[in-house]
Amino acid sequence: MTVYLVGAGPGDPGLLTLRGAEVLGRADVVVYDRLSVRSLLALAPPGAERISVGKAPGHAEMAQEDINALLVERGKAGATVVRLKGGDPFVFARGGEEAAALAEAGVAFEVVPGITSAVAVPAYAGIPVTLRHSSTSFTVVTGHEDPRVGDDGSVDWDALARVGGTIVVLMGVARIRDIAARLVAAGRAPDTPVAAVTWGTRPQQRTVRATLATIADRPLAPPATIVIGEVARLDLAWFEQRPLFGRRVVVTRARAQASELTERFEATGAEVVELPTIEIAEPVDGGAALASAVASLRDYEWVVLTSANGARRFLAALRDGRDAAGVHIAAIGPGTANALREGNLVADLVPPEFVAESLLEVFPSPSASDAKVLLARAEVARDVLPEGLRARGWHVDVVDAYRTVAAAPDSDVLDAVAGADVITFTSSSTVERFLEVAGARRVPRVVACIGPVTAGTAREHGLRVDVEAAVHSLDGLVDAVVDHFRDG
Ligand code: SAH
Repeated sequence: MTVYLVGAGPGDPGLLTLRGAEVLGRADVVVYDRLSVRSLLALAPPGAERISVGKAPGHAEMAQEDINALLVERGKAGATVVRLKGGDPFVFARGGEEAAALAEAGVAFEVVPGITSAVAVPAYAGIPVTLRHSSTSFTVVTGHEDPRVGDDGSVDWDALARVGGTIVVLMGVARIRDIAARLVAAGRAPDTPVAAVTWGTRPQQRTVRATLATIADRPLAPPATIVIGEVARLDLAWFEQRPLFGRRVVVTRARAQASELTERFEATGAEVVELPTIEIAEPVDGGAALASAVASLRDYEWVVLTSANGARRFLAALRDGRDAAGVHIAAIGPGTANALREGNLVADLVPPEFVAESLLEVFPSPSASDAKVLLARAEVARDVLPEGLRARGWHVDVVDAYRTVAAAPDSDVLDAVAGADVITFTSSSTVERFLEVAGARRVPRVVACIGPVTAGTAREHGLRVDVEAAVHSLDGLVDAVVDHFRDG
């Protein structure tokens, strides 16, 4: 029923407001621009209609009147419409025109302000737009108007030069030569510092530092935020200094699991390409074996779970926690233990290393000659665990909790993969699936594996393994990749 004019921020998805995320999460229609970030569009429900109104190669930009008409039409039809705009919707974004058209048509609308690039992009480049004593104001100005045509009511660059303080120019790349010349002519010193930040707040952020005299001769590309004034001398760098900043990392995991590793890599500044190679599916028997084993759970002394997926399937087969009363649970890996915790079950045993061999070392001996272990795991898995447990005198029932099947990624994702700096493998099956869906020629320059078993599989397939995590967990993998690039 309402059209929301939502500010998306300058690019870092974390800079969307809570209110923005909330309305996106229940949108029927999302109307977005060329610069919009994919991961924000992903916040809308899967079935929401997504309409691009920005310039895409080969397509004309939609005229503003047509965008207004589209918003009015969808709003009148009763849809919850999110008009997603870069930065703040009312800062050089024509949000005012859209709101006026909606008001005139009697369509209810709300404005969800966003973090404007005018402030956030300098911040991500380590530049505060004001500074006590030296820079006591900042002026945000469009560089889109021709600075040579004087008094036609557009930007008064002479007045701007006299105001002093910081000048933040948006949309100024094409005219930076004229803007700089105009400010110098109006009395700003030629050696006034200038910083131009391209693709600010994004993994591709780049900062060019110059002066009013030299900025025009530096290579610049839009979209850039240009900061002019004493503050542009500052370089309180943090964003561009994170350990994997500027590196592109491929995360190969089942679709449902990718985000944990992605978040960890993004926190280190890396640009992450998620390559879903496997998807989790029902086992061939539809889960019947797991269901019947769980129905007689009290016959077992232990349940052993080897993955988060297995743990989730196990939880789903329980009626509630009481079904698991009396049985001990072993979980290989903290991800598995965490998945159990989501179902309010605490693992009794988590081996120090996150591989089957380590569990065998710490697993207790059977208390009776007929003691049983239930092993719920992927349909195709190594035999180390059941064989090892049997050798210790346990009766072991192995049930298929789930099955992994190959995913089918888009060609642009595959291209991004091939151009990445490093690929991460978190299991033998991700290695094999990667080679199936992407092929050996798309393996990036550096290969990183979560542990020795995965690395062994990679080598068997002819890959050179450059990084092997010492601690076989997601954090351990991220640390190992960070170390590799720090040292190399
Ligand atoms: N409403 C937006 C501004 C739209 S005008 C806001 O409040 O931020 C578009 C201009 O914003 C670009 O030409 C550029 O100057 C600036 N801009 C937007 N995103 C940017 C980014 N990620 N990095 C640098 N500048 C950006």
